Amino acid sequence: MKRIVILGSGESGAGAAVLAQQKGFDVFVSDMSEIKSQYKSLLNQHNILWEEKQHTEELILSADEIIKSPGIPDKAPIIKKIKTQGIHIISEIEFAGRYTDAKMICITGSNGKTTTTSLIYHILCRAGMNVGLAGNIGKSLALQVATEHHDVYVIELSSFQLDNMYDFKADIAVLMNITPDHLDRYDYKMQNYTDAKMRITQNQTPADAFIYWAEDPIICQEVQKHDSELHALRYAFTADTPLPGTMSQEQLSLRGRHNLLNSLAASAVATLAGVPQDIIIEGLSNFPGVEHRLEKAGFVGDIEFINDSKATNVDACWYALESMTKPTVLILGGLDKGNDYSQIYPLVRQKCIGLVLMGVDNKKLHDCFDHFGIPVADVSSMQVCLAECMKMARPGCCVLLSPCCASFDLFKNMEDRGEQFKNGVKKIASQG
Ligand code: ADP
Repeated sequence: MKRIVILGSGESGAGAAVLAQQKGFDVFVSDMSEIKSQYKSLLNQHNILWEEKQHTEELILSADEIIKSPGIPDKAPIIKKIKTQGIHIISEIEFAGRYTDAKMICITGSNGKTTTTSLIYHILCRAGMNVGLAGNIGKSLALQVATEHHDVYVIELSSFQLDNMYDFKADIAVLMNITPDHLDRYDYKMQNYTDAKMRITQNQTPADAFIYWAEDPIICQEVQKHDSELHALRYAFTADTPLPGTMSQEQLSLRGRHNLLNSLAASAVATLAGVPQDIIIEGLSNFPGVEHRLEKAGFVGDIEFINDSKATNVDACWYALESMTKPTVLILGGLDKGNDYSQIYPLVRQKCIGLVLMGVDNKKLHDCFDHFGIPVADVSSMQVCLAECMKMARPGCCVLLSPCCASFDLFKNMEDRGEQFKNGVKKIASQG
């Protein structure tokens, strides 16, 4: 019996374990951290052997194939050992893809993945298709393949997932943009990260489609470079590509230039998937949005609060600022992944009336922004952060949490940061 070892038991690892067990493999799950109780019960329910807070080498290096959680970096000691032994490492999506004939619509990019994936899913559902949502969102693809049946999957793919994909093929691949992110996992080489993103097109044939944003300089360069290897039909869109029918930008439920691009990508996918135009228009105009992405967090008097906690890189913050139509107090900071803030300097000069720096170490941000001549405050908790925002705010302005940084220095994760922001706003509003 072939042995499959799964490293990391979060959503994707636990799902992969269930599918592997169902397919008759000898399965073992190992996680260096504590496994969440919901995943422990799932594994126990399926009689799957697991360990936590350790990696027992004899149990791992005896595998025929390893399924690695996207969160584990290649430089982790256990991965180095696995590679020395020559054991094949794949991602959960690669594994699950072997056991379904469903059409695969896959979305990647540095920013906009979750929004575009959710929007496509929303439109296809409204069109009455039997569709599953997977990847970084909701239930893992593997668990759905094991326990449900869908004709189509809409899958958000990170570069880390793409890194360990080999035979998987997207029937429709969407590449939103490529800007620097996660370079710490790619030897600080932009090309390595770019190569990972371009893997979204691997194995595609002329019967497949490749949809991409044609104004992204890196994507354009890569498309030219790989011209002879890109076999799929190409659909390039730009900010000037018309929306379906006579639809105008004002009718889109999502605001901002970036969301116009996300909507155009979703519209192209839905058209290729055979969704009638009126349903695409309806879906683009009544999409409820995604939490923590330019999410309306409420008002205190006439001061509006916007939660864009998911903006964990500079490019995402640029788009958030670009879409602001009121003077803005901007909350920046957290764990810096090697950010170059110069990209947002012009927008900060043009739109910001105050900056609140929220992180354990704000020195780099002070060095970048202190000389702008606008008030800058230094905080290390959400409560103090919101109090500072209220001091800086003027009537009719907006407070934007779009921090350019990861959240792990002060918060559990970006969701926790966004929740604390929203709850804090509610509390201040209720105090009148
Ligand atoms: P991802 O899943 O790729 O992280 P999200 O849809 O969660 O993307 O959005 C993350 C952040 O990026 C949000 O702060 C949002 O404002 C911004 N964003 C969304 N779409 C785009 C886009 N097409 N280009 C640039 N930034 C975007």
